[in-house]
Amino acid sequence: MSMSMYVVGHKIPDSDSICGAIALAYLKNQINEPAIPTRLGEVSPETQFILDKFGFEAPELKLSYAGEDVYIVDHTEKTQAPDDIDEARVVGVVDHHKLGDLTSSTPLECWIRPVGCSNTIIKMMYDFYNVEIPKDIAGIMLCAILSDTVIFKSPTCTTADIKCVEALAEIAGIEDFKELGMEMFKVKSAVEGTPVRDLVMRDFKDFNMNGKLVGIGQLEVIDLAVFDEIKADLEADIAKLKEEGGRHSVLLLLTDIMKEGSEMLIASDDVSVIEAAYDVKSEDGRVWLDGVLSRKKQVVPPLQDAFAKI
Ligand code: MG
Ligand code: MG
Ligand code: MG
Repeated sequence: MSMSMYVVGHKIPDSDSICGAIALAYLKNQINEPAIPTRLGEVSPETQFILDKFGFEAPELKLSYAGEDVYIVDHTEKTQAPDDIDEARVVGVVDHHKLGDLTSSTPLECWIRPVGCSNTIIKMMYDFYNVEIPKDIAGIMLCAILSDTVIFKSPTCTTADIKCVEALAEIAGIEDFKELGMEMFKVKSAVEGTPVRDLVMRDFKDFNMNGKLVGIGQLEVIDLAVFDEIKADLEADIAKLKEEGGRHSVLLLLTDIMKEGSEMLIASDDVSVIEAAYDVKSEDGRVWLDGVLSRKKQVVPPLQDAFAKI
């Protein structure tokens, strides 16, 4: 009898992590590899919208994995993994980010592709194993891809992602997937009444940049005007977050998915490193980065290069 594996995405889970864990665990169970989807944190309003729409419960919240088999979804970074990942056995990873610092003690399955979303790769896995995707699972996978690729606008989006969404829409019986995507981003844009710290942490990742801890948050909305009244509070909070975590910098990207760019709010021990990374001058800790939608492709790599030089 084989032991069950847990399928889990990153800390501060996004829709790709949650929907990916559900979709991959289902696939694994179909090929007689018992799997349980889990999560490392609260479900975001966007993800809750997706789960409700297709009739899913959120995966079980599970923080400790010592002694367990774990299949990692949507990252390969220790900072984003369960705290006790070193005491677990990593049996596989499915990811679409740069290779991180997670390692394994035994041979593992590796599904890593430079596409826009982990769920696009999970669809390739369904095809590989020749397993039929149920309607409701196709629906959540499709939404995860629309979220990660910002409805195909992100520079991370590939032909594979678009083809995958079209195929999943067919299975799920969704006629206008772009409209569904906009509905989802409207839910994401409803920030009013949410505590400032919750907004800063909603999609937040820590990175180790040349030995310095750098936190980067992102809020993707339809219109940046939703931040007009809370921008000063957001700035005060990222400054606080920087101090609390002993971070070198905390950056918050306010991404306008219609104007296709991001305003970056900066709290840093050395703003000049950030400015050098993007070849810009900030004003009062703010700078508009035209065309910047992707943290992974447009924000992290130049910053890593800049930190490598200090
Ligand atoms: Mg993710
Ligand atoms: Mg992803
Ligand atoms: Mg994202």
